[in-house]
Amino acid sequence: MKPTVMIVEDEPSLVTMLRYNLEKEGYQVTEAGDGEEAMTVANETTPDAVILDWMLPRMSGIEVCRQLRRKAETRNVPIIMLTARSEETDKVRGLNVGADDYLTKPFSMPELVARVRALLRRTKPSQSKGQLTFGDIVLDLDAHRVSRGGKYIHLGPTEFRLLQYLMERPGTVFSREELLNGVWGPDIYVEPRTVDVHIRRLRKALNIEESVDVIRTVRAAGYALDLSGDQAA
Ligand code: CA
Repeated sequence: MKPTVMIVEDEPSLVTMLRYNLEKEGYQVTEAGDGEEAMTVANETTPDAVILDWMLPRMSGIEVCRQLRRKAETRNVPIIMLTARSEETDKVRGLNVGADDYLTKPFSMPELVARVRALLRRTKPSQSKGQLTFGDIVLDLDAHRVSRGGKYIHLGPTEFRLLQYLMERPGTVFSREELLNGVWGPDIYVEPRTVDVHIRRLRKALNIEESVDVIRTVRAAGYALDLSGDQAA
């Protein structure tokens, strides 16, 4: 069964481009031109992933996101939100509507396709994905939540994927390039230094109170999840 991606976008030319590129990747595509139609289409065919424009006629992308999250069938479906400017992205992020990823228009099709692929890889629909644990850290793949010592930790989507990747292979040292390929995907071109930025954010979020630093920096090699702490200092 091919995964179904629902496109919710009112710009016909963009819908055509998205459909073409997603079908080329082997996905089934459903589409809706406004927020209300999105809910109807999602009822007819439960999507495996949703590409959701923020500015839509009749019902905003934010409201669509909220409604999809309220329904049992679409509660865990990955949603990529499209916004017109980065300030909008920040605003939507701040509203914490439950999207898994955000893209600012204009974006490249390879980047979008890579993000969809990464999100689908993470989710296997209609089946519990369970949780990963490492020391006192618990990453719940269904609820998309992370806690440490029983305390909920807020992570951005990239930090969540990064932590998941490390928790799936504890103790393994990954180079920046390996993390870029595994977490961002092979088609996304970002500076290896970007990894450092997200590792720093992840480390900051995880190291609450007196917790042991679980991310080990291996000089000239990369990073690993390890209870022995940071040895580069
Ligand atoms: Ca729009």
